[in-house]
Amino acid sequence: MGIRVRFAPSPTGPLHIGGARSALFNYLWARKNKGTFIVRSEDTDLERSSRESEHNILEALRWLNIQWDEGIEVGGVHGPYRQTDRLALYEEYTEKLIANGDAYFCYCTEEELEQERQALTAKGETPRYLGKCRHLTSEQRADLELQGRKPVVRFCVPEGQAIHISDQVRGDVVFDSNGIGDYVIVKSDGIPTYNFAVVVDDITMGITHVIRGEEHLSNTPRQVLIYQALGVAAPEFAHISLILNTEGGKMSKRDGDTAVIDYQKKGYLPEAIVNFIALLGWAPSGEEEFYTIDELTDVFSLDRVSKSPAVFDRNKLNYINAHYIKKAAPERLAELALPHVEELGIPPLGERSEEQQQWLNDFISAISEKISYMAEAREFVHYFHGDRPLSPEGEALEVLRGEQVPSVLALFRDKVMELESLSGANVKTLLKQITKELKLGGKLVFMPVRVALTGQIHGPELYDVIPLLGRENVLKRVEVTMARYLR
Ligand code: GLU
Repeated sequence: MGIRVRFAPSPTGPLHIGGARSALFNYLWARKNKGTFIVRSEDTDLERSSRESEHNILEALRWLNIQWDEGIEVGGVHGPYRQTDRLALYEEYTEKLIANGDAYFCYCTEEELEQERQALTAKGETPRYLGKCRHLTSEQRADLELQGRKPVVRFCVPEGQAIHISDQVRGDVVFDSNGIGDYVIVKSDGIPTYNFAVVVDDITMGITHVIRGEEHLSNTPRQVLIYQALGVAAPEFAHISLILNTEGGKMSKRDGDTAVIDYQKKGYLPEAIVNFIALLGWAPSGEEEFYTIDELTDVFSLDRVSKSPAVFDRNKLNYINAHYIKKAAPERLAELALPHVEELGIPPLGERSEEQQQWLNDFISAISEKISYMAEAREFVHYFHGDRPLSPEGEALEVLRGEQVPSVLALFRDKVMELESLSGANVKTLLKQITKELKLGGKLVFMPVRVALTGQIHGPELYDVIPLLGRENVLKRVEVTMARYLR
């Protein structure tokens, strides 16, 4: 049997960057080995799970182009792929464990458990369940049931065992079974806990490699004990390192956007996100830093996954995204920019005229070297759209005070009126003519024209600004500037 890996999100919220990275590493590992990538849903937290979250997670994976071969919405012979649809299977495995003496019913109340925890803590020991209900007779059980107590099922943790985990990233990791305490595998409502259900799923789905976040490393000994009890070899594990913020803390909501959808909404490109998250904890052997998902499939390997934490550096993401923006077609970028530039009043695709489409494409081409993600397009609208420049301040105002400015702007205005078409090339010639006719250096012409049109001393090329503004807006902006700032 080939390599079989899975991504098993809990559908309790959107897909986060860390989850997307786990999904990607599994996907790449499967592709590289011509294996199978499965996506399933760990929805046993009934209160926090929702179909909506599940749907959103799947949509985010699709957006990233992380495709799965088997699982939710795709199907496969190992389904169903949602844990709440697999309860009968967990029950079967529970019975097996109980029959073999590897699990038992526990009737302890919350108060009793709390007392035990406090007593252990007072003695300086790790709070854990000491196995009070391990050896209940059937009479004792019947008695407790009569009292209306609903049992949980606990796993019988063997004493004094060194639990070895072979981890492809961390090497051989050893845990001591003492100190784990008999843990719950089925809650009193009959719903299995994560550590149990995940093992049943991994076994029944033939999972060969478990690639997941480091936060699950401490769960792994509990899972390995269940494999042992069931007499099944555990899969290979690969725990990928935590993602930290640039201050070295755990990435959290406070660091800004942590969900994939946040980036989608801001107009990041999925291929850039994939490229960026691939480099969170994995490093290629060479210097190259840009990879498509298909190129990653060739070069990815678990032995280049790092043990040290990955750092989520937004500047690096922006740098990578800017690279992909430069390569993307303006039509595609136009659609991504549109939600961020409503003030342009451009109708949605299919409803806009050819001129509007052309204008939008030219706008995107004029700014695509200057932005890191499409939401930044908004900051450029004022240069290209509308009949009023921003009010000049400071240095810009200073530029307008030059003694040559009235004649430059007057000549510019007259020439714009005469010009047949305001193409970039024509604008270039026109500005050159002005420098010649007035015998001025380029800067003394370009700067006042720039400030008159935009109110700014920096900004996009005038050869882009003027054609996109169009004759009418150009003339109006010059008039406004002349009337307000020139005497
Ligand atoms: N539902 C778990 C999570 O979202 C999956 C853990 C695992 O892959 O085993 O973190």
